[in-house]
This record gives sequence, C-alpha cells and structure tokens, in this order.
Amino acid sequence: MTSAKSMSNSEDGFKGTKPERKIFPPKTCISCGEEFKRTLDMQATTWRTKKTCSRECLNVSRNNAAIKRNEAKHGAGCLDDKPCQVCGVIMTKADSFGNYVFIRKRTCSNECAGVLRKETYTVHAKKQTAPPKTLEWYWEQHTPLQKLIHSAITRPLLRKK
Ligand SMILES: [Zn+2]
Ligand SMILES: [Zn+2]
Repeated sequence: MTSAKSMSNSEDGFKGTKPERKIFPPKTCISCGEEFKRTLDMQATTWRTKKTCSRECLNVSRNNAAIKRNEAKHGAGCLDDKPCQVCGVIMTKADSFGNYVFIRKRTCSNECAGVLRKETYTVHAKKQTAPPKTLEWYWEQHTPLQKLIHSAITRPLLRKK
C-alpha cells in the first residue's frame, strides 16, 4: 500500500519536473488577430497581462483605446478630418501629434490661427462695449429669499429718510 502510493507520487513528481508542465497556451493578438506564444525570456506575470503580439500592435491597441476614450469625452468623430475654421482646408490628424492637440486644433496654420484670434478678440471687445447692467437687472439676480432679506433691511431705512 505504502510502496504503491510512493511510486505513484514519484511518477507525478517526475512529470512535474518536465518543462512542459506549465503550459501557456498561445494567445490571439487583440490588434492584428495573429496567434502569439510566450517567449522563454518572458516573465509569467508579463505573459498574463500581454494582449498583443508585438510593440507595434501594442501601440495600435493603445491608440485605439485612446480614440475610444477621447470619443467618449469629446463626442464621436472628434478625431475625424475637419475643416479649418478660417480657410476651410481639410485637416487630418497626423500621427505626430496627440489626439488632444487635434481635438483642440481649429485652424490649419499659424496664419489662420492669427486670423481666428483677431476675430475672437473683436467678439470680446464687442462684449465689453455692451451697455452696463441696470440696478433692476442686479435686483432680478437675487433669489426671492435674498430679496426678502434686502427689503426687510432697506425699507425701514428708506422710511426714516
Ligand atoms: Zn499583433
Ligand atoms: Zn486655414
């Protein structure tokens, strides 16, 4: 009995020492769909979190994730080609600049940016020359409670005069 058990144990132990014991089945790359295997120098923890076959695919998948994040934040199509707000030339997101830069980008060139800046300045200037607000307008900005408190304080004073 005892000898038989120890024999089976030793058999298991022998199987265990074989390098094939730890099997890492190949994975499918989430970016290109190719199957890839764990390399000998790769840490088990690295393999566990690995979803892409190569650095290029990792960059693509990261970029796709970033696009999804940006679309969730700034609306779908925020990274699509769009016209310059000044001259109307179609702008495409070059790989060289970040998604956020492109989302913020409204003009194709420094010249157009300058024109747009001038336009926004004139809009601001127009806003500044708007007629000043009347006292009634400020009064209407108060909540009913504020009005009640203010009139309770000011009315007796006015009556005294
Ligand atoms: Zn891949
Ligand atoms: Zn332009």
